[in-house]
Amino acid sequence: MARINLKKTTHKKTKDVVIKSAKDGNTYKSYVEDKQRYMICQNSVETGNYFKGHLCGNWTKVSNETVKTLCWKCTAHLVPFEEKIVKKSDKPRGWAFMKEYVHKDGTVYHKGIEQPELKGTLEITVIEKKEKVKLTKGQKAEQQQDILRQMGKLKRQHKKETRKTYAGKIMSQIKKLQRDLKKVR
Ligand SMILES: [Zn+2]
Repeated sequence: MARINLKKTTHKKTKDVVIKSAKDGNTYKSYVEDKQRYMICQNSVETGNYFKGHLCGNWTKVSNETVKTLCWKCTAHLVPFEEKIVKKSDKPRGWAFMKEYVHKDGTVYHKGIEQPELKGTLEITVIEKKEKVKLTKGQKAEQQQDILRQMGKLKRQHKKETRKTYAGKIMSQIKKLQRDLKKVR
């Protein structure tokens, strides 16, 4: 049977600070304060792997064996800004659930699955946007009054109701009305 050499992965913590140069050839400055070691960001020199033209003087808490570190600020800069923005879909809501959806580029989808052989053969799906009906001030006030009246009624019911499940149901109705009320405003 072949013997497998298992590398020991356990990290032995040393009590003393080990000053060694990093693989990039630099020996980064560090100091110890209250038994905690701090090291300067690797962007404090221009030869670091992540250097992007801006020298950094941030200190980071490190272990005694650390040979180099990148501060949180420079780490955050590593991620390109564009990648942080979630790409907005150019397809309408629920397109993947539609029996047939034809994208504006002519791609046909059946329940979200692309049908390449049908591309360009069908009419593009037009999604009609629901237009919000604008209420007049008077109508709004009327709606609000109506909701408030219903809420008052439910609140009185809720006070009297001793059965927990019913009281809970009334409460959820009240909460729904509260949400409706916000929508009217
Ligand atoms: Zn930095």
